[in-house]
Amino acid sequence: MDAPPPLPPADQTDPAVCANCGNPQLSDRTPLPVCEPCRYAMVRFPFPVWVKVCATVVIALLAAALVQIPQKWQAAMSYAGAGQYAQSNDWDAAYASYKPLAINHRDDTDMQLRFAEACVKSHHLREAIETMNTLEGRRVSQHQMDKANQVGDALEFALKREAKNATSNRTLQN
Ligand SMILES: [Zn+2]
Repeated sequence: MDAPPPLPPADQTDPAVCANCGNPQLSDRTPLPVCEPCRYAMVRFPFPVWVKVCATVVIALLAAALVQIPQKWQAAMSYAGAGQYAQSNDWDAAYASYKPLAINHRDDTDMQLRFAEACVKSHHLREAIETMNTLEGRRVSQHQMDKANQVGDALEFALKREAKNATSNRTLQN
């Protein structure tokens, strides 16, 4: 019976040669099993550039998010508060709460619709018309379209009633 074949030379783990390039002359400036040129390369370029770039981007995004958290939190709180006023039919309070949010979030169609609704219900009809006009031509979901129609109908009704009141007031004055 033949003797088993000799083990392959353990050159990767042999501490006598550089683990990176196999250079037998190891650096005496590091406990790592690497030669001096490899040690130097690792110190100068410990991470590939793309890792550094990604890390920088992640840190920047994180910092930006942290800066925005108090703002967003506050906006979310007043949005929730405005929604509660609307649910309890306190439309003057809802109007006052939605107004700064609507001004700061002009691209937010849902927000604009809620504000327009609060305007109609609190009889700020001119602002309701202006807000509805800003929504013209926007891409909307079916739900938003339904809401816009509902607010539009309520607005039309309120305008008609206002016109009627104005006429009857004139009649009374005459
Ligand atoms: Zn090396």
